[in-house]
Formats: sequence, structure tokens, C-alpha cells
Amino acid sequence: MNVYSLYALHDNTVQNSVEKQKRKMLEYTNQVRSRFRSSLGDLWQLDVQKAGKSLSSPSNVSVDLVQAITEASKDSLFSEIYFSPANCDACAQVKGNIWVFNRGSLQFEEARNYDRLVENGIAIAETRMDALISDYRWNTRVIFDTHNSMTIALINPEREQIIGYIIFVINQDYLINRYMGPKLIETFGTGAESGIIIWLHNWTKNEVLTTTDPELTYSYQKVDFIQNFPDLLNDWNLKAAFTTNPDIAASRASLTRNLFVLGGAVLLLLSALTFILYTAQRERALAQRQTLFLANVTHELQTPLSVILAAGENLSDGRVTDPDRLRSYGSYIYQESIRLRTMIERLLDVARSDAKEVKTQRKVINLPDFIRQLLDEKRSLFESLQITLHFDAREPIPGILADPDDLHSAVNNLIENAIKYSPEEKYLGVRIFRRKNNVRLEVEDHGIGIPKNHQKYIFNKFFRVEDSLTARTKGHGLGLSIVKDLVQRNEGSIRVNSTPGKGSVFIITFPVAAENGEITESTPNKKIISNKQEPTHVS
Ligand code: ADP
Repeated sequence: MNVYSLYALHDNTVQNSVEKQKRKMLEYTNQVRSRFRSSLGDLWQLDVQKAGKSLSSPSNVSVDLVQAITEASKDSLFSEIYFSPANCDACAQVKGNIWVFNRGSLQFEEARNYDRLVENGIAIAETRMDALISDYRWNTRVIFDTHNSMTIALINPEREQIIGYIIFVINQDYLINRYMGPKLIETFGTGAESGIIIWLHNWTKNEVLTTTDPELTYSYQKVDFIQNFPDLLNDWNLKAAFTTNPDIAASRASLTRNLFVLGGAVLLLLSALTFILYTAQRERALAQRQTLFLANVTHELQTPLSVILAAGENLSDGRVTDPDRLRSYGSYIYQESIRLRTMIERLLDVARSDAKEVKTQRKVINLPDFIRQLLDEKRSLFESLQITLHFDAREPIPGILADPDDLHSAVNNLIENAIKYSPEEKYLGVRIFRRKNNVRLEVEDHGIGIPKNHQKYIFNKFFRVEDSLTARTKGHGLGLSIVKDLVQRNEGSIRVNSTPGKGSVFIITFPVAAENGEITESTPNKKIISNKQEPTHVS
């Protein structure tokens, strides 16, 4: 189910509920109409022509008519019942008279005082019947004077003659307070929770006659729907304000719940999709890098091998006899063999760290001495490349615990990178200092730097920043991953601070292991020998 159908379903529920209330309002007005009709009892069966023959005086009214009126007079809906004979043959002489029905004697008698509304009712009925009489085919016709009176015209249709008018004065109090008011509540319920508030409203006087919710003051702005009474009570109508009924509230709650579930499901789906795409992308990139790596490795292995092969072949042939050329061939073979060995060692390092089968031989090391020796080894390289070296050790520096080979390899890698990625200013800064319970080693260059968004990936295997210098520089994206592995293996950590175009600082941190050559209490592995008992290879 989609969002649109959820909304459509909710709208439908709201619409249905509103339509249901409208139908109930129409039904209510029809019931009021029937109530007036049923109050007249036998009057509908009255033989109007027979009744019209004897209307010369109130005491002369036919028994049938008196009987019918007696029935109607029992209904509290009418406060008074009057009769006014019209211009029929038998009653011409009494035209203009108004007789009142005496509920005690059950007889008509001359009416002396009567309300003006009685005359109004007769006048309205006369006007209406004047217009209708020529085409009228029925014996009776009911005419309302708004909510004041109901007049029944008795008609002889063959002769197009009005026999008389029965005027029922409507008992307003009964109609409003004892009939329509209670019936409203019975039909619609009370209060806002019923889903609707109804006002019975006299629109000509702008007066509320009764309501289902007396708490709520009537105002036209609140009205959503108006229902008139068909053919009766002309200046009254029902006005409705639709509120949220339990059906709509339940539908709204279900809509919210469904939208929530749907939203959650869509979100989950999107996250899963993103995750799948991301993983697929990463797998593809890794596969690509591995293929590239294999191609590079093969190429890198082939180059020294071809040199060794060519030199070896020339030597074994005995074609080279000149001592200088012999020496240079030997030197080629030696250097390329070293290159080959380094490369194989690096590959083995990666393979070993992947297989997690490396064992460390950790010793307490005095880092400044260790680094000094390492830099000494590389002095000729630095000189040949015209590198400005800056070494700073803020001694005394406490000892650290590390495998000397691991440490050598890690720092060497960082130095090689610092040189590789510094095409212009050849600067190498190495600093050692203590920071609380740690010893820090920083390797700084003023090279190309690493963009911020790549910094978190550079320790990943096969990762290389994609720029033109990196593309021109030999490498496989393995060095830093090996360095990180070597450092972590020795319980140290590594991070980088770098600004593109300005340079990088790689920071290695090891916990302090030995103060003044003695292993400290906090040293994790106490079995390790201090450098007093077994000095490292650092002099
Ligand atoms: P590589 O064999 O490519 O040098 P590394 O793992 O040593 O592999 O380094 C990964 C990437 O990090 C390099 O390709 C380079 O883009 C970047 N990088 C490493 N060291 C530096 C540095 N000192 N200055 C600038 N970029 C560096």
C-alpha cells in the first residue's frame, strides 16, 4: 500500500463519516415532518364534501370532523385548534367567523379572543389556495405559517371550492423542548466526541432554540453544513459543526501509524541499498587495487631480475674481462638483489600481518639513540638527495618497549615517504619528546601534504591519494598499512597531521616502559628485559 492510498483511505473514512452525519440530519427533518402528519390521525380519512354540507354554525359541524379534531386535540403539539368556514354554499353566511375547539366539551364554539397568528395562518392559507385551487386535485392541503401555526385547507376539488380552514396553533415549548431537543440528542448524541454538534436555529431571529452541546457557543463561522426542514418550519434550520469523532480519530491514528511504519520501512530499505552499494563499490575498488598491485609487483620483480639475469649472463659467458666492468656488473647484481630482497620482505610483511602470525621480540629501547643510528645509516642517501635534516630529542627520554626490527621498518617507511612526497623543499624533521606517560616520535616533511578527506584512508591497504605526483611515484599503497600494523603490534599508535601544499607530520606514540633504564610498574609485559641487562643493538 502506498502513501497515496493511505491518505485516500483516511479521506474516505472522513468523507463517509461526514456523509453519514448529513444523512442523519435529513432523516431527522423527515421525522419531524412525519410527527406533524401523524398528529392529525383520522383527519386524512375525512369525507370533506360531507363535512362541508353542515357548517352553518359551530354546533352544526359534522360528527366526523369533530371526531377527527378530537383526536388531533389530544396531541400536545398543538395549543389551540380553530376552524374558519370558507365560501362554500352551506357556510356562506358564516364567512369570516372563527370557531375554537373546546377540549373540555369537545365542541366548536365562537371564538371571541384569539391570537393574531390565527388570522395570519388563515390569510396565508387563503392566498396560497387562491393560487392553487384551479389545478388542485386533493381534498386537503397543509400550509405552515413558519413555526407558528399549521393550517389545513379542506377542499372540494370538483367544484374548485374551499370548504374551510382548520388552524392548529403550534405549542412552541413542547415542540422545541420536549420533542425536537430530546430527539436531537437521541439522534446525534451530546458533546464534541459524538463527531457532530447541531444547533436548531431560527435564522430570521439569529436565535439558537436548542443544541446538542450547550457548552459550545453558536457562531456562523463554526457551521460546516445546513439542513432545512422540507415544507415546514420555514424559518428554522439545523446547523452542524463536524468535529473529530472516534472513527475519524481512529483512522487518523492508524494513518499516522501506517505512515510511520511505511517511512521506517522505506528508510530501512534505503539504508540497506546504500550499504549494499557502498560495499559493492568498496569491493570493486579493492579488487581493482589488488589487480593493479599484482601487475605492479610483477613489473617491480621483473626489473631487478632482468638486470641480474643480463649481468649474470655476460659474466658467465666470460665475455667481460675488464676489471672495472667486472666490478660494475657485480655491483649491479648486488644492488638489484638487495632491491629484490627488500621487495620480497615487504610482501612477506604484508602477508604475515594479514595472517596475524607475526611474533614480536620486544625490548626496552632508548628511542633517541635508536633513531640517531637509523639516521646515520641513511646519511649518505640524505646527502645525495640534498635533504635538510633536522633531528631534535628533548632528553632525557624514557625507554619504550618495541621490537627493534619493527621499529626500524616503521620509521624507515615514514622517512622514505617523506622524501618521496617532497618534490620541492627537501626537508626532513625528526622529533622525539615525552608527553605525560607517552613517548612521541614525529616525522615531518614539507612536501605535498595529504587532502583532509583522504587522511583517514591512507593507513588502509592499497590506498594511494589520486594526484599526479603519487601517480608518478613508485609505490603500492602498502607502506603505511604496514607501518600502522608494526606500530600497533608494539602497543603504539600512529596518526597524521597534514596540510596539502605545506607538508605532513606523522606522529607515533608509545607508552613509557622504562624510567632511567628500569622497567616501570605500569609496563604491560614485565618479562621483557631492561636495556641494563641486555642492551639493544643501539649503541
Ligand atoms: P605508497 O607506496 O603509495 O607510498 P603508502 O601506504 O606509504 O603507499 O602511502 C599511501 C599514500 O599516502 C601514498 O600513495 C600517498 O598518496 C600518501 N602519503 C604517504 N606519505 C605521505 C607524505 N609524507 N606526504 C604526502 N602524501 C603521503
